[in-house]
Amino acid sequence: LAQEMTRALPVLETLQAHGYEAVFVGGCVRDTYMGRTIKDVDLATSATPDQVIALFPNHIPTGLKHGTVTVMMGNTPYEVTTYRTESEYEQYRRPQAVQFVTSLEADLLRRDFTMNAMAVRADGTLVDPYGGAGDIDRGILRCVGEADARFQEDALRMVRAVRFAGEFRLRIALGTWRALKRHAPLLRHVAMERIGAEADKMMSGSHPRRAAVLFARSGLLAHTKERLPSCLTKQEAAHPHAPFAGFEAAWDDGTADKDKPVDYNWLRTGLILGLAPEDADALFEALKYANSRRTNFGLTMSLAERMDASIGRIKVNEGAVEEARALQELRRFWMDAILSHGAQIADNWLYALEHLPLDNAGAGQDRGLYASLPTLLRELREEMAVTDMRGLAVTGADVMSHFRKPSGPWLGQLLKELLREAAHGRVENKKETLLKAAEALESQRESRG
Ligand code: ATP
Ligand code: MG
Repeated sequence: LAQEMTRALPVLETLQAHGYEAVFVGGCVRDTYMGRTIKDVDLATSATPDQVIALFPNHIPTGLKHGTVTVMMGNTPYEVTTYRTESEYEQYRRPQAVQFVTSLEADLLRRDFTMNAMAVRADGTLVDPYGGAGDIDRGILRCVGEADARFQEDALRMVRAVRFAGEFRLRIALGTWRALKRHAPLLRHVAMERIGAEADKMMSGSHPRRAAVLFARSGLLAHTKERLPSCLTKQEAAHPHAPFAGFEAAWDDGTADKDKPVDYNWLRTGLILGLAPEDADALFEALKYANSRRTNFGLTMSLAERMDASIGRIKVNEGAVEEARALQELRRFWMDAILSHGAQIADNWLYALEHLPLDNAGAGQDRGLYASLPTLLRELREEMAVTDMRGLAVTGADVMSHFRKPSGPWLGQLLKELLREAAHGRVENKKETLLKAAEALESQRESRG
């Protein structure tokens, strides 16, 4: 038993002591067998939800209709789900009703893939009636039972197939892959939110790009309820990495950073796929992600384009870019970006750049420029004494009382100029110095009329 499972043993043992059967199931069994770290430990039992609740006063009735009770052990939640079968799948979606059963095998039979249909008993014995362990050994993802029927019951399973195959570097069994291709159009019955949740899991897994490419190759992207940007649904989307020769090794070997927010991985994928900012935004909208996420993401993506344009401008004016001039331009560009959007934008980029194989990217003569970008960003982050208003040593109130003037458009304008001066190191970020600089700026403005 994995350590995480041992910790949950008291829950299993309590159920068993009262005459019920109880086992570990699903992801934790699969991950242990694969030698991976476990995300969460889920339990299945022959006890009904009412019986579970009676045994554990400290519980949350998470999904009683589907047989799930969350049992709290200290601060750790464990999902305990009653053995069940599913029927009456409504329109290729999750079932309307479930039936509680007493047989573990029947419960495992309703699960999606053989590797997810294994259980482990308290004494460590593996219950594996559908050959999950053998499939894992051979590196194969396979539906439990008839793939055709399983994808018709719940079309989201096709997306999950892509996610697991990408994450665990599995080949999809021929019958399962054929059924997926055949039933891809059924995906339109699945709520976009569920697809969005799976897509997020793909991006936070260890092989986001592999999953993204497989997703495109599966043809599933063309069949979502809400249309996705056409650059993702076209046939070529299956081979989005043409300009990134040699890049698979750089990103495809488990380098995703699990400590970073999932948006970092989305950003990398967006850059690699060459998503335009408006397509990125359309994608996030279709997947029903929060507006704040959309804004943040779109902003970062659009910076990429503006940066290209900014370098392109000097080129047009001066022919072949002189590297030093271009670097200067880049520096000014990023300083402005940080001052307008906050330092987070530079951190996002730094992270994305460090994880992109830039040696293979960037068109010909710009390559050197792009390659020096991480260093430039890091320098900027260190050099800039202040990056936003909160870091400024004077407040709006300070400035108002200094000038004995009521608030107005002048105030915001002045503060912005002060921030710029302080950020560029032209004025020290100290109250007195800033107020003196403010006086100079104001009198300049007045003399300009
Ligand atoms: P993860 O590590 O991503 O959490 P997981 O296997 O635990 O992977 P969950 O979505 O948490 O995935 O589901 C837990 C278990 O429930 C799965 O292992 C599988 O047995 C079953 N399951 C989940 N979703 C479905 C589905 N749509 N159809 C059939 N079985 C499913
Ligand atoms: Mg899970």
